[in-house]
Amino acid sequence: MPRHRLTPRHIHVVGAGLAGLSAAVRLASRGLAVTIHEATNQAGGRCRSYYDSTLGMEIDNGNHLVLSGNKAALSYLDIIGARAGLAAPPSASFPFIDLAAGERWTVRANDGLVPWWILDPARRVPGARLSEYLALAKLLRAKAGATIGETISCSGPLYQRLIEPLLTAALNTEPRSGSAALAAAIIRETLAAGGRNYRPLIAHKGLSNVFVAPALRYIVDHGGAVNFGHRLRRLVLGADRVTAIDFGDMTIHLTPSDAVVLAVPPTAAEFLVPGSPTPTEFRAIVNAHFRIDPPEGLAPMIGVVNGMAQWLFAFPGRLSVTISAADNLLDLPREDLARRIWGEVAAIADLADAMPAWQIVRERRATFAAVPQEEAKRPVAETAWENLALAGDWTRTGLPATIEGAIRSGARAAEILAPP
Ligand SMILES: Cc1cc2nc3c(=O)[nH]c(=O)nc-3n(C[C@H](O)[C@H](O)[C@H](O)COP(=O)(O)OP(=O)(O)OC[C@H]3O[C@@H](n4cnc5c(N)ncnc54)[C@H](O)[C@@H]3O)c2cc1C
Repeated sequence: MPRHRLTPRHIHVVGAGLAGLSAAVRLASRGLAVTIHEATNQAGGRCRSYYDSTLGMEIDNGNHLVLSGNKAALSYLDIIGARAGLAAPPSASFPFIDLAAGERWTVRANDGLVPWWILDPARRVPGARLSEYLALAKLLRAKAGATIGETISCSGPLYQRLIEPLLTAALNTEPRSGSAALAAAIIRETLAAGGRNYRPLIAHKGLSNVFVAPALRYIVDHGGAVNFGHRLRRLVLGADRVTAIDFGDMTIHLTPSDAVVLAVPPTAAEFLVPGSPTPTEFRAIVNAHFRIDPPEGLAPMIGVVNGMAQWLFAFPGRLSVTISAADNLLDLPREDLARRIWGEVAAIADLADAMPAWQIVRERRATFAAVPQEEAKRPVAETAWENLALAGDWTRTGLPATIEGAIRSGARAAEILAPP
């Protein structure tokens, strides 16, 4: 496949989600000229904050968690000077509650590579046997194209009380049908890499304040430009190069040394690059936000087993619940959903029954379905056009659709078009 050999004169990044911002930041950090074109009037894509008038406060479109082993995400934050915006606990500890059993526990991993915490009853999952932990190694040797359900036993206390909640969140897919290879990638980079690699990191002051606004500032400070309301309508594709980018009311003709990073979601990429394979099946995420001060001492994040809620997050002035792989909740009336979730939140946080101001945010196509058939459709970043590279959490990153995957994909696209 021919590659773009000249140092690009100007790189157009289409899409200002984290993949596009990551590409633009990398390119700008090397002194290259970058222009971002974003269809909407806001950057951040599926990882952004906005003012919610019902709650009367700024909230995130969904609660987002990164882990301390997410190296690309942390390196991106280091470049834009925003790592301090992530609150980091001193160790990898995950409080849980089982609503059916009325039981609470905290998984506390040790930092090092040898996971001795699984031998300590005060740190491991109650009821889980050592053999269940050891059986997880099968995931790391899973057959190509296998599901998690074909690879490990999806039952037992360890699965129900730790692995299912973690994988549902990481894959945004019911784990039994999920790709064992993607689960293995997550486990390899976090659980199997020692507790220092899976401390939960949360943007307490909002996603945009950490992942988005500092990146835009960085790009502009380094001579780049950001255009909002620029929806790419057509890539003019020559035999081996993109020759122009067409925004409907404006066409930019590219010089032989200009290049394009296409960092749009798969549905848009499929339209703009006909014939390119993309995932076509998606999963929803539902977030419920409640305007209330978290009770003193409530953990920043609590895993919920045997509930409709899956994770409860405590933010200043707000409690917020995340439910992944939530397609079955899309048609429920919003108020019913809010009431059921609030009932669980009140029980977990020991609050009065009266429901405070609430908001339900349903992202129907939150991520592609992390199942083997969809994994097989993910394209690599290189394309048949030497000055065009793809980026996005849905490209072949080896990871499920995550912040880490999106940021890695942007860095990869930058590296392809302008090799260091
Ligand atoms: C509710 C929710 C919760 C999540 N929780 C987590 C989590 O806890 N941890 C985690 O790691 N990940 C999480 N994710 C996933 C994470 O948000 C995504 O993987 C990541 O934000 C994807 O970034 P992206 O740049 O690939 O795509 P996007 O964010 O979709 O960005 C694409 C951009 O392209 C723009 N665009 C589209 N068409 C055009 C066009 N024609 N021209 C110009 N611009 C265009 C869009 O407007 C958008 O800004 C969550 C996602 C959701 C929705």
